[in-house]
Amino acid sequence: MLKLLKQVLRHTDYDKREVALTFDDGPHALYTEKILDILGEYDIKATFFLLGEHVRDYPDIAKRIVAEGHTVGNHTYSHPNLTTLTHEEIHDELTRTEQEIILATGIRPKLFRPPYGEFNELVLQVAGEMNYKTVYWSQDTNRSLDTKDWAGPIAEEILQHIKNNICSGGIVLMHDGGGDRTQTTIALAPIIEFLQNENFTLVPLH
Ligand SMILES: [Zn+2]
Repeated sequence: MLKLLKQVLRHTDYDKREVALTFDDGPHALYTEKILDILGEYDIKATFFLLGEHVRDYPDIAKRIVAEGHTVGNHTYSHPNLTTLTHEEIHDELTRTEQEIILATGIRPKLFRPPYGEFNELVLQVAGEMNYKTVYWSQDTNRSLDTKDWAGPIAEEILQHIKNNICSGGIVLMHDGGGDRTQTTIALAPIIEFLQNENFTLVPLH
């Protein structure tokens, strides 16, 4: 388990003044395109962890994410807690999502993020067997770059959370799907401007 745990990506390079913005649970009919518009205005690349069932419903938005230079990752098909599933069921969740992403974008994702951040040895094993790199977000005893935007904070609180917790090499977790993400879309431009003023380069994950 320890060896597998060490392979989970929780930050990029601590020595580089860079931050990776990540968005989970899309594509969403409304919020994903809004977020893409804002990222485009600032010419910034981010990472989107897509749900297979939403790629099936919005393949054109998935295609746009890739066309605009962002990274897409596998966030399972139906957002289960993977620690409750068998090897075969986990494999099926990842495979079906992979197929939808390939169909929509022509790209086979290399990154995987487990729903709810919930994983166990079996989840990491299956992801590894399928050549996925498992991605978490930056979280240790001192800080967490989970903005918890899913819990309903206003935009100013999302921004403040990032200001309080940011670090070099940080991976920030936000959401473009799974609920009303109006506050996330409002917070995004101020977040980008704050990070750029602090001389962080915003990078996609690979
Ligand atoms: Zn999720």
